[in-house]
Amino acid sequence: MFRNKIDYCLNCVTKPCVKGCPLKNDIPLFINYSKEGDFLKAFSVLSETNVLPFICGSICLSLKLCENNCVRKLKGKSVEIGLLESIIGEQGLKKNYPLFEKKNDFNGKNVAVVGGGPAGLSCAAFLKKLGYGVTIYEKHNYLGGLISHGIPDFRLDSDLREKSFEKIINLGIEVKYNHELGKNIFLKNLKKKYDAVFLGFGANVSKILHIKGKNLKNVYGSNEFLESRVRLNLREKNVIVVGGGDTAIDMARVAKRFGGNVLIIYRGNEKEMKALKSVVSLAKKEEISFMFNTNIKQIISNENDYNAYLCNAKGYNFIYPCDYVFFAIGSKPDEINKKLGLKLDLNGYIKVDKRNMTSMRGVFAGGNVINEKNTVAHALASGRNSAYNIDLYLKNIDNKKH
Ligand SMILES: Cc1cc2nc3c(=O)[nH]c(=O)nc-3n(C[C@H](O)[C@H](O)[C@H](O)COP(=O)(O)OP(=O)(O)OC[C@H]3O[C@@H](n4cnc5c(N)ncnc54)[C@H](O)[C@@H]3O)c2cc1C
Ligand code: SF4
Repeated sequence: MFRNKIDYCLNCVTKPCVKGCPLKNDIPLFINYSKEGDFLKAFSVLSETNVLPFICGSICLSLKLCENNCVRKLKGKSVEIGLLESIIGEQGLKKNYPLFEKKNDFNGKNVAVVGGGPAGLSCAAFLKKLGYGVTIYEKHNYLGGLISHGIPDFRLDSDLREKSFEKIINLGIEVKYNHELGKNIFLKNLKKKYDAVFLGFGANVSKILHIKGKNLKNVYGSNEFLESRVRLNLREKNVIVVGGGDTAIDMARVAKRFGGNVLIIYRGNEKEMKALKSVVSLAKKEEISFMFNTNIKQIISNENDYNAYLCNAKGYNFIYPCDYVFFAIGSKPDEINKKLGLKLDLNGYIKVDKRNMTSMRGVFAGGNVINEKNTVAHALASGRNSAYNIDLYLKNIDNKKH
């Protein structure tokens, strides 16, 4: 099966698939090494650009990215690039292939990375490769950010996920867990202590509709709920998830696994949903119900019973009895951004120049915190590119001194 899938790649000279990949993985080259049976080389080609190939291959929205550009797609089905990347990534983890063929010796300079999500991990790994001392400051006692607390375990093998992070940390990166910027660490101290700082702490505050009942006990923002890693018993409970993107589908599928009768309500029609069609049909197979062209107007509580007042596009109002409501209508940045003394854009994201440097010299930022496109591959690319820019910046300072 794997053989057929790799042989299906035409090895196009123009490599249109690479243009669709945010990380610019050399897809035809890694597939070519796979065809020759040289999986070590295939893994090394991938990790030149992507330090989490198993994870990206497994959960990347590849149908909208690399596979969308595949020449084979013109005649029907594209090469399953994501699947092939995850197979090579898994091989690399199980056989313990090195992430980088060469790593520079310590160059005497140290960088602090705030946030251990994909942006932070990628920045840390490439800085280490370039010879920097790197310390990650992470607010939780685990790494991965949304890869660990957003993407549910039924979509990503948790053992291989943890092995992927270990591989990066084993490059010789120090991690300080339970360190939260703005609480027990501060930017001005990091700036004094390190030669440069990278901010990659995401933007995971759920947007909530300003409706009556939004502050009731069983009403949650999906991001905060998933991040809390709380397991609820939702057997015989009616659950409403509000939203039409991939987070709404993930939230609904998690609630279903907790035993709930789950209804997704979305203000547009099915075609307008941002979620991938394939995951919408998976949710339907799991008996998650959908109500389209419908808005939630208010949530009323009567002791432990809640009623959601819904309104459809024709202006017809009706009541739906529910026990829990989860909002999954998008994310916004944390209030901490306002306290850092950095320039922000109108929506509160950290502003950076084309080198990913913030308004403070020597402080760089990447991933969701700068409103990068909301995918793991974009966050990884943003972290990696920042590492190369930090290297240029610090070398430039040195050149000016001499
Ligand atoms: C439910 C859900 C499902 C998703 N599914 C997919 C998917 O299938 N495929 C895909 O490509 N993308 C998916 N995404 C999007 C993707 O996960 C994000 O775009 C990506 O993780 C952003 O990476 P990041 O490193 O910028 O931020 P995050 O992943 O949010 O990482 C930020 C890190 O910083 C830490 N942190 C936060 N505040 C502080 C602080 N003050 N001090 C120190 N540390 C801090 C956090 O704990 C976290 O570890 C999904 C998102 C959600 C919400
Ligand atoms: S990282 Fe994502 S977009 Fe890039 S090659 Fe892998 S699956 Fe495709």
